[in-house]
Amino acid sequence: MTADGLRAAVDALRLVDHHVHGAMVGDVEGAAFEAGFSESPWPPPVGTTHLDSQLGFAVRRWCAPVLDLHPNVDVTAYVARRRDLGAPEVTRRLLAASGVGLFLVDTGCRAEQTLGPEEMAATSGAAASEIVRLESVAEEVTASGVDATRFADRFASTLDERARYAAALKSVIAYRHGLDFDPEPPSAAEVRRAAGQWLRRQETGEPRLTDPVLLRHLLWAGLERGLPLQFHVGYGDPDLTLHRCDPSLMTDFLRLVQDRHVPVMLLHGYPYHRTAGYLAHVFPHVYFDVGLAVNYTGARSRAVVAESLEVAPFGKVLFSSDAWGPAELHYLGAVLWRRAMASVLGEWVEAGEWSSADAVRVVKMVGAGNAKRVYRLEESP
Ligand SMILES: [Zn+2]
Repeated sequence: MTADGLRAAVDALRLVDHHVHGAMVGDVEGAAFEAGFSESPWPPPVGTTHLDSQLGFAVRRWCAPVLDLHPNVDVTAYVARRRDLGAPEVTRRLLAASGVGLFLVDTGCRAEQTLGPEEMAATSGAAASEIVRLESVAEEVTASGVDATRFADRFASTLDERARYAAALKSVIAYRHGLDFDPEPPSAAEVRRAAGQWLRRQETGEPRLTDPVLLRHLLWAGLERGLPLQFHVGYGDPDLTLHRCDPSLMTDFLRLVQDRHVPVMLLHGYPYHRTAGYLAHVFPHVYFDVGLAVNYTGARSRAVVAESLEVAPFGKVLFSSDAWGPAELHYLGAVLWRRAMASVLGEWVEAGEWSSADAVRVVKMVGAGNAKRVYRLEESP
């Protein structure tokens, strides 16, 4: 098989995006549009835009042709074309062009601003399932009124309901505390006490769950459901403290939960994706992806994808975009990953290190097969 043959096989693959958020509902323009391409809530340096970045350049290079524009068109022309086409058409084009056959959609992050799983499916022509975020369920439970003694039971029954049709659960303990949490499950008395303190804090206008005892309780309650458990790891917005999002900090937790046979999915991970790859290598229940990092590294994503294929067995690496908001991110996640895989694996085939049949097999595993196996997805997208 030639390099062109490998590229064609990569391009033809219907992907499973195993961790993604909804595309933005409605038009986004100006600063709001540009803000969609940065994890920083603050403005860029004077005289520049958030699109003066690897991600911004990748948008202009790869998304412009989907909107009938020349590659590398300037930002003003791009935004004008986006406005002319209208947000629904732009979103439809970009989602369909991604070649994703199934989106697993995390609905826990500003869901009211983005398409839900059914809307993602209707807009893209692909299938979609939900990933339920543990902390959001806990916040829903307290918002609907509960006292500290009944919090654990109410959380359990609400989670049962919410998780009935879910593909996975997700934890953002990395954001809310750090991955250096006590690995042991808290006692019922500790949970009651912590729930009481949280409810009192809520009365003073602090609805966010940041209590480490409760965050741990959510993890252990989540494990009971037997669904794959996704963790935010590494890079993200400045709500997190990066060095506390190193996944090796949760090694004792990984050891403790190993006999539960619940797949633990370490998401995006940059710059700790090599650590995540090591953990996926040694622990049978650990998997990882480099989703968010592929988009944010743009023309350098080839290096990140190559690093994801170092020590981790190929059955432990998954594709994701971790896109949230502008559908450019959903499309780019797929296009940059496909380009990187074709380039990196093509080089190894060219050098005689890999057979082309193995290269195609690994592309199918990482792009779709591993997710279908781990999430027990009956229907192939
Ligand atoms: Zn995410």
